[in-house]
This record gives sequence, C-alpha cells and structure tokens, in this order.
Amino acid sequence: MPNPSRLPAPLLQNWAWQAEAVCREVGSEPFFAPAEEERKGRKERDRQAKSLCGTCPVVKACLHHALATHEPHGVWGGLTARERRRLLPAAAATTP
Ligand code: SF4
Repeated sequence: MPNPSRLPAPLLQNWAWQAEAVCREVGSEPFFAPAEEERKGRKERDRQAKSLCGTCPVVKACLHHALATHEPHGVWGGLTARERRRLLPAAAATTP
C-alpha cells in the first residue's frame, strides 16, 4: 500500500474515502468469492458483505468508485458485481 502522504493530491483525493472503510478492519474475505464457491456459500458471503457495507460511512463513495471503474468483482458499496452491472446497461451488454 502506498504511503498516502507521498501521493499527488488529486490521486489522494480519489482514494481518501477508503481510510474510513469498514472493510479495512475486517479484511477482504467477505467481499470477494474464493475460487470454487458454491451458490449457497456465495449467498451467505454476499449477505455478510452487504451487512458490513450497510454500516460503512463511505458506502456512497465506494459504490460511485465501483460503478465509475466498472469494478468487475466483489461486493462494493453494498452491491454485488451482478447488481452493479444492472445499473450499467452498456457494461452488462458486453459481460457474459
Ligand atoms: S461500502 Fe463496503 S466494500 Fe465499500 S468501503 Fe464500505 S465496507 Fe468496504
């Protein structure tokens, strides 16, 4: 992780919201699927991730970032990748 004090100001502004992220405290496991996850496990993991996002003070900034960058994996801003694709019709049309 880069030292934030060494980042140029515009880049630091773009990522500053992450300093307040709830997921910084719990790690990435609830937010990203392991390689061979079964459907039942995925639903429970997604539920846990969404619950954490629901307590996160930067949920709007996180979702905005995920949509703006077309983040293809994981739960960001309380939405799964599939749910985010539904908000981006052009992206959904090109994703299998
Ligand atoms: S909204 Fe969820 S994924 Fe985004 S920073 Fe907060 S806890 Fe992490």
